[in-house]
Amino acid sequence: MKKRKMKRCFALWAALCCITVLFSGQAAAEEEGKVISLQQEAEAQLQKELGAFEITANQRELAKNNEAGYSVLDAGRGNPNWINTQARYAYTRFSDFSTRECELDMSEGSMAGHARQEGIGKRFDAAMDPENETDAFLISAVDYCVNTLGLDKDALLKELADAVIGDYYPSPSRCLPCIETILNAYLQSTLYHGADLAGETMVFPTEGGSAAMVYIFEALSHNRLLNPGDQIAIATPIFTPYMQIPSVKNYGLVSVDVSSSEEENWDIAETELAKLEDPSVKAFFLVNPSNPASHALSEKTLERLQRVAEKNPDLIILTDDVYGTFVEDFRTVYSALPYNTILVYSFSKLYGVTGWRVGLIAMNRNNVCDRLLSELPEEDKAFLQDEYSIVTAEPENMLFLDRVVADSRSIGLYHTSGLSTPSQVFMAMMSLTHLVSAEDDPYIRLANETVRARYTALMNALELPVDDSAENAQYYTLVDVLGVAANRYGADFAGWLKESRTEIDFLNDLAGKKGVVLMYGPGFSAPDGTVRISLANLNAEDYTEIAGRLFELLDDYYAEYESAAMPAEAA
Ligand SMILES: *Cc1c(COP(=O)(O)O)cnc(C)c1O
Repeated sequence: MKKRKMKRCFALWAALCCITVLFSGQAAAEEEGKVISLQQEAEAQLQKELGAFEITANQRELAKNNEAGYSVLDAGRGNPNWINTQARYAYTRFSDFSTRECELDMSEGSMAGHARQEGIGKRFDAAMDPENETDAFLISAVDYCVNTLGLDKDALLKELADAVIGDYYPSPSRCLPCIETILNAYLQSTLYHGADLAGETMVFPTEGGSAAMVYIFEALSHNRLLNPGDQIAIATPIFTPYMQIPSVKNYGLVSVDVSSSEEENWDIAETELAKLEDPSVKAFFLVNPSNPASHALSEKTLERLQRVAEKNPDLIILTDDVYGTFVEDFRTVYSALPYNTILVYSFSKLYGVTGWRVGLIAMNRNNVCDRLLSELPEEDKAFLQDEYSIVTAEPENMLFLDRVVADSRSIGLYHTSGLSTPSQVFMAMMSLTHLVSAEDDPYIRLANETVRARYTALMNALELPVDDSAENAQYYTLVDVLGVAANRYGADFAGWLKESRTEIDFLNDLAGKKGVVLMYGPGFSAPDGTVRISLANLNAEDYTEIAGRLFELLDDYYAEYESAAMPAEAA
């Protein structure tokens, strides 16, 4: 126990030292006065974050033995409690078909050869049974690829068969070609809101959105597009681990906070957005729809962002759209600013595939990063020429996204880079479940209805207004606990509660007394007094129950408040 604490102290100390060094470029930014200094906030933030993880782990322990003896309700996690079955059945079925294809080449004991392209389309048709649901889906998926996407049937099936078997290194390492076409069609259908960008977008599948972010920051920094002391703007509140990439990961960058608030319906106000016009802000990093607030940027904000980029044309925008499909008619920043934006998407949440580690990076062929590379000072160009010369004869022509791929394996192991090919096939299968019914995808509709029902149950039970605005993804919600207390017992009680219990006390009591685990809002740089409730991992009636237990705890507090007030009144 003591040892653990020491370790934690050391981690905190080391992290704070890091931050102090990293933020030494802050003074200049402050002098300019155009951006908000975040140094102290970042330090406090870091303490809060270390705290947030510790608190949640602690609460899970407390909840197990809660005083009321209730079953534990843990709405802390974003991991969904649903999965997609269609893509999984299709993947297994296609894998089976492909193994048999290999046996046609050569078969002895458990040893087989490689799949052959010649005639594979005909053999596929013969093997699939249209009466079988999974086979029928595979037939329509292949039809879609051939008739709508214009792919050659035999080439497609050979690529998918090799990939699902996994008997070759990924080649090209960035993305297999037919799979790239499919992924582009998926992104266009789900995220671009009518903009036709599939044909001009390059995709790099990665081990989830997390790896995508790490790879991008690594490559931006290595290629000197982001340099120590550069300012990068972060849309807050934001997914906690992401706060740590630019600062703690040693890139020596200075953060600028571009915040949204409940008053703005979690959209970014014009004044906040204006911070991005400053050319010393090199990059803007956002999660859209956001986590924890779970709201998408409005159309108006996207238009304003376009104008901001006209004033700061070198701005690199990095957007994480993992929750995009939870907003109807969602429109990604990439579709509004394809030149400036690097898009990250992950299949993790919608399809219940967090353990698969599947996400991607998408970038336009015509993009700001490649232009900035061409405009680097000669000495930087010479450095990079040297760096990439071990993997290409023309390093100066190597695209930024291909550098991201190379850097993901420290350049030297570029020839074995790229996402595992079976994972690429699985991504294609998920995409195709959507594409074959793109107009009205029943699975996406169901996922949206599922979180909406939970969100509505929670808000109704908490006696809070339901926010049904188009931008609300309803995957998480931030609840202002003091606001709930004030609604129920008045402002005086809420004031007393604020003085007599910290947020951590409240969360600990909720876990230890009532068996409910929620997350600490300020850990995401959300306002004080808020908790994040995930709508992804429990059933609708559980959210009603959570509200009931939260009220029970408030009732306990209220009894305490009244008995504390009593003697004073009597005297
Ligand atoms: C859950 C989540 C992801 C998914 O990350 P993976 O590494 O793909 O599992 C990405 N971004 C945000 C903001 C998330 O909350």
